[in-house]
Order: sequence, then C-alpha cells, then structure tokens
Amino acid sequence: MNFQTIFNQKLPQVEALAPGRVNLLGEHTDYNDGFVLPTAIPQQTVVQIGLSDDGFYHFYSENLDERVDMVEESFRAGEMQEEYARYIFGCIQVLKEVGYTISPINLYVKSSVPLGSGLSSSAALEVATIRGIRQLFNLPINDVEIAQFAQKAEIQYAHVQCGIMDQMASSLADTEHMLFLDTRTLERRVLPLPEGAKIVVIDSGVPRTLTGSGYNQRRTECTQAAQLLGVKALRDITDVSLVETLPEPLQRRARHVVTENNRVLEALQNVETRHVSSLQRFGELMNASHASLRDDYEVSVPALDILVDILQKTPGVFGARLTGAGFGGATVALVAAGEEKNIAEKVLEQYNHAGYTGNVLVGA
Ligand code: ADP
Ligand code: MG
Repeated sequence: MNFQTIFNQKLPQVEALAPGRVNLLGEHTDYNDGFVLPTAIPQQTVVQIGLSDDGFYHFYSENLDERVDMVEESFRAGEMQEEYARYIFGCIQVLKEVGYTISPINLYVKSSVPLGSGLSSSAALEVATIRGIRQLFNLPINDVEIAQFAQKAEIQYAHVQCGIMDQMASSLADTEHMLFLDTRTLERRVLPLPEGAKIVVIDSGVPRTLTGSGYNQRRTECTQAAQLLGVKALRDITDVSLVETLPEPLQRRARHVVTENNRVLEALQNVETRHVSSLQRFGELMNASHASLRDDYEVSVPALDILVDILQKTPGVFGARLTGAGFGGATVALVAAGEEKNIAEKVLEQYNHAGYTGNVLVGA
C-alpha cells in the first residue's frame, strides 16, 4: 500500500515526519507545573498529504490498515468510528478555529513508533500532521505553536487529558538531544545527551491497565497537597522538609514531586556545566527517581521493579527507572554508548528468565 494506490492520486504534495519520545527524568511532574527532561527516539511517524479533489477528507493509516472518508460535518458530529481519525481531524480543527483555511486533504500515515506503548505515538501523529499541513498551506506557525495546537487537538478531540511534554518533545527534541522543559512557563533548553551515553527502552510486557484510575488519584492527591501547603502547585515547593507537615499519603506523594523536580534541575545543571562526573550523576538521579516512584509515589509494579533492578546491576548501565505513568509500561536506561544492543539482550534474557516477556523498544 502507498499514497498513490490508496488515494488514486499521483504523488503526495508534502511529506512530514515527527519522532516518538521517552522521558529521561521528571515523572509525574508535568501536572504539578514542574520540570521534565524527554528526548526523541529513533522511531518516527511519517505523514504524506495531497489536496483532495472531491470535497471529502480521506485518511489512511498503514499501521491500522484503516481508511476514513468523511465530510467535515460528519467529523464535527463525531460520527467517525475510527479512533485515530480524531487525532488527525482534531489537528485540522484547532487550526481552523484560529482562522486558517484548510481545504479537504488526502492524508496517508505510517509509523515506526509503537502505538500505545508509552513512546507517544499520539504526539508524533499530531506533530507530523500539523507539520505537513503547515507546509502544504504555508501557515506561519512555529514549532512551539505546533506543540500547543497538537496538545489542544488531543485534549479537545481525542479526549485525552495530556500535558504538553509529549508534543513539545516530538516537535523540538531529536535523538542526540534532550529537551529541558519548564511546563509552567514553557521555558526550555535543548541540551546534548550526556556524552558517551545512549538510551535503552524496554517494555515490561505488563500493560498499563490501572493507569486511568491510579493516575487520576495521584493528580487529586497532588492538588490536595498543594492546597494544604498554600501554593498554586507543588512546583512552588523546593525545600523538601516542608512536606513533613502533610498527612499521609499526601506527604509521600508531595515528597516525590518535590525531589523529582530537584533531580531534573540538578541533572540540567550538571549537563550544562559539563561537569566531569555528569554521566554518573545523571544515572544516580535516574535510580533515585525510580526509588521515589516506587516508594513515595507508589506507581511501580513488581515487573518494573525487577526489570529496573536487573538493568541497574548490569555493567555499562549508568542508571535506570520506570518511564511514563507507571502501573506497567516501559523502563528507560542510560547506558555506555556502543553497548546498547549487548546490554539490552543480556537484560532481556534475565528478565524473561524471571518469568516475564519483555520487549526492547529502543536500543535493539
Ligand atoms: P502512545 O501515545 O503512548 O503511543 P496513546 O494511547 O496516547 O499511546 O496513543 C495511541 C493512539 O494514537 C492510537 O490508539 C491511535 O488512535 C493513535 N495513533 C498513533 N499513531 C498512529 C498511526 N500511525 N496510525 C493510526 N493511529 C495512530
Ligand atoms: Mg500518547
């Protein structure tokens, strides 16, 4: 299948790409107005677009082998069966809402970002779509605005209450750099990955089943903790001893957020000053992040703890932790450059020997 055969049109007029992402440090901080440190992964989403000549919007996803043909009114009435079309149509719609004219298009999407594995295929789809539309219709929007439109599309049209991290990472980061982002002010810095290090991401094989309920509960606990401490968000607390006045479990939840924000800031400072031990320290901060997510934030599960433990004990690994919301999902590790494949294979073997079925997503 390709653009030509699906839409019976010669060639796409534009082609745009956007990568998936993995968060290195700063977990569960984005909805507390805090700091995050994601990087792009090698897997990308590719979108090809041409103008439609029959008044219909035509979308096709190669990953799902699903085709959608619709007029705008049907989209607006929410008549589409295909979930993925909401993300694409949402992007078109948010651009129309601010006054841009987007005539009907044929859009073909294919992606090497695994769907629904926590590597943000949704943001990659949105950012690639808006990049392609920007090019086709010559829209004067910058990369930060692309991320903002993408987030708005996901919230309003795909009905996912996401922060801005995924879209900013997909729009602004690349695989050699990480993006430091202040999610309150959107102040950001693009920094090189710690020298001599590469990323390994392994899926635990345990689906994120409890994410929904557990995630919402944590968000509520953080809001309560901030209220009791008299601040707008937990990001406003930097002195961790202040959380000791809180009742449990709010105390533990707040301690995670405060220490996690401090870890991101320390990592940033280390990398920026090119401190000689920055790689080691970065790894230690990742390990500390995992312990905090496990003990204070209580979003880990035995499988993730076992996988992280194996990673941390493997020579060549500087640090490892669960990544994403937790309750299942994937781990991220910082490892010696050139050793990724070797390390990933060794770790996977031990993990599978312990009775699980892992999968290397980055570093294989
Ligand atoms: P993640 O972003 O972690 O991969 P999400 O649940 O946020 O997981 O987003 C996954 C959803 O995004 C898919 O179920 C699908 O609706 C949409 N999506 C992402 N990439 C594609 C693609 N290439 N083709 C079709 N739909 C996609
Ligand atoms: Mg997503």
